[in-house]
Amino acid sequence: MKSEIIDRFGRRIDYLRVSVTDRCNLKCIYCNLDDFTLLEREEILTLEETARIIKLASELGISKIRITGGEPLIRKNLIHLIRMIGNISSINDISITTNGILLSEFAKELFTAGIKRVNISLDTLKRDRFKEITKQDKLNNVLDGIETVLRLGFEPVKINVVVIKGLNEDEILDFAELTKRKPLVVRFIEHMPIKEPHSYFSLRDIKKELMTIGELITVSTLKGNGPAYYMKYKNAKGVIGIIAPMSKGFCDNCNRLRLTADGRLFLCLMSDTFVNLKGKMRNGGTNKEIKTLIKDAVQKKQLSPTESEGKKIIWEPMASIGG
Ligand code: SAM
Repeated sequence: MKSEIIDRFGRRIDYLRVSVTDRCNLKCIYCNLDDFTLLEREEILTLEETARIIKLASELGISKIRITGGEPLIRKNLIHLIRMIGNISSINDISITTNGILLSEFAKELFTAGIKRVNISLDTLKRDRFKEITKQDKLNNVLDGIETVLRLGFEPVKINVVVIKGLNEDEILDFAELTKRKPLVVRFIEHMPIKEPHSYFSLRDIKKELMTIGELITVSTLKGNGPAYYMKYKNAKGVIGIIAPMSKGFCDNCNRLRLTADGRLFLCLMSDTFVNLKGKMRNGGTNKEIKTLIKDAVQKKQLSPTESEGKKIIWEPMASIGG
């Protein structure tokens, strides 16, 4: 019989986001990487250690893996890890989240290794603004990456746009227009504060803006594990999603765990509670002991961030926890 991990609140935990590096080839302003010390190389899990944790988690009931980072495509031999994951029989879905800079270079290998679903983070379609946000003049690399994955048949191809007040909310409609012409899923994400609370451009603001250029029809059939709410314009090739961690939240249906590049298993993006799987593994922990650690950790998963931890703040940059 297939194993399942059910937490104290009846949520089936079947999704593991795996950060394969804390390093990134961009320096996005909201990632606050300057405040954050990079891991020493030996602190980072080897690909074999990562695959071992995924295999053990899959024996407990994890069936979906998303590779993330930092920027996952800068991790050496990533394709080898993806092949190892692809050989785990109970993993039935492997996807990746990338900034797209190296996507056209790796897309074919990713596809052949078994990744068919890709999320690309892109907050602007303007070259100067891209440079301002990421400190790199590489918008065209990302746009080429998007064209490449569409051509190769990745599906869905999702574009994640973090909407930041005063920075890019004036581009919501440009991104929305893209869905009329291309089979893309453009998802607008509310900007989440790291350490300090801030005001944000909300789901309601985004939706109001979107409705100025056409009627939106709700789409309920889109494949994915995420908390997005999907809509589309009439006759559009693509779809629009909104992810509202701030104004709406989605803890009730949370099905995910996060493994950091240094082998810590986080139970929630907005909580600093974790278990150190690497420590156990490098101290000779057996498969059974590591599985017990994972199972026990899941039972500590909160229904939502607690008051003391709360106010919807992330404790570490997403490049560390794996956004
Ligand atoms: N490098 C990969 C990428 O760019 O997709 C994966 C890691 S990146 C940290 C993952 C996602 O987290 C990106 O879409 C980024 O925009 C998002 N992100 C980072 N900080 C955020 C914040 N404070 N609020 C909302 N999203 C954030």
